Amino acid sequence: MSSLKAVRGTRDLLPPDTQLWNRVEATARAVFARYGFGEIRTPIFEVTELFARGVGEETDIVSKEMFTWEDRARAASEKAQSLTLRPENTAGVVRAYIEHKLGDTGQLQKLFYIGPQFRRERPQRGRYRQFWQIGCEVLGPQSSGAESPIRDAEILEMLASLLDELGVKGWRLEVNSVGSATDRPRYLAALREALAPVKDRMCEDNRRRAETNPLRVLDSKAPEDQDLINALPKIADYLDEASRDHFAQVLAALDACGVAYHVNPRLVRGLDYYTRTTFEFTVPDGSGLGTQNALLGGGRYDGLSEMLGGPRAPGIGFAIGEDRLILTLEAQAGEATVAKLDAYIAPMGLGQNAAALVLARDLRRAGLSVEIGDGSFRLKKSFDAADKIARHMVILGEDEITSNSATIKTFATGQQQKVAIADLQKILHS
Ligand code: AMP
Repeated sequence: MSSLKAVRGTRDLLPPDTQLWNRVEATARAVFARYGFGEIRTPIFEVTELFARGVGEETDIVSKEMFTWEDRARAASEKAQSLTLRPENTAGVVRAYIEHKLGDTGQLQKLFYIGPQFRRERPQRGRYRQFWQIGCEVLGPQSSGAESPIRDAEILEMLASLLDELGVKGWRLEVNSVGSATDRPRYLAALREALAPVKDRMCEDNRRRAETNPLRVLDSKAPEDQDLINALPKIADYLDEASRDHFAQVLAALDACGVAYHVNPRLVRGLDYYTRTTFEFTVPDGSGLGTQNALLGGGRYDGLSEMLGGPRAPGIGFAIGEDRLILTLEAQAGEATVAKLDAYIAPMGLGQNAAALVLARDLRRAGLSVEIGDGSFRLKKSFDAADKIARHMVILGEDEITSNSATIKTFATGQQQKVAIADLQKILHS
């Protein structure tokens, strides 16, 4: 029989690698708490229409990357419906904001999520079909200050602090403004006009994008098209005064708190709902991501709630690609250091197994991390097993048990001593 494997583009995360995942998530939670965020958990599948309306029919995600299925009706009274594994989490969060009338509180909502997302992309290093995102959304009625440039700057400053706290080296922040709902159509018209005479000289992908979603041409990395793309109109020249002023205030606040950034006029991002500020954090080549150097992305989405049938609720958010963050940290750290357990208890004979379990229970209750061998193991086998996973080995023989003591070996120093059980905790904690 052929063996069963994880589906292409999905993967198992195993210990000890999951230690780093846990550290990243714990750090993110701690940082988000300091900025007043609360956790939201939305379902991993939603009605397909949510993404079609929220993310946009013409985006790559919706047009070709979603895992969608027709969910059969179970009862005659029930209609079949089209469902989709979430390809991103912002649309789900805004749906929940509308559904639970969070806007009625009048307060700014600051929400974060950590969870898997699904896109049918061509798998490669840093790009998977199931991947994890850590994201935040800040939204609320206009009176809550949700539209203020200080929100944008606060999010970016928080990300800079988070990446520094995690130890990501050499990150680069790129920002742009893609304008408001009124700026965008004017710019799109100018872009279409400028593309019309040159698009036939572009690669097939860009010819298609020029028709279906011209903004995406700006995202293109196709080397042969770069000169043509750089000569296209810049969105900055089409912003109205309010959008220009908003962007200037975001940048001024970043300057004030010393967050370094680069304005990239071509940064438009692939999702339709973005308005005004958009941004991306990248890491330098050689940081383990290959060609996928975008660590995280986000932006403002002032019209999204209304696109989904909700009240006016300007907002801004981001999603960190957690898989990519982990690859970066692993590559930048060099050799991974795996945290060892405090102790490995080696019972010398089956008769000592129960006493070993009692000792392990007491040490674990005192907050120590402990593994237990088995009385059937020879001493050499116990030493080898303990040396791999623990800082100390605690030997429990008949002698030790009758004298209420234990022999402890410390691997870092090679020292071995017999100590009273009562002193064991202090030594293991040190
Ligand atoms: P997006 O939701 O497309 O704005 O993406 C936000 C971030 O999620 C990106 O910057 C990537 O780090 C990450 N990401 C997006 N798609 C994938 C994928 N297929 N595999 C791994 N990470 C991804």
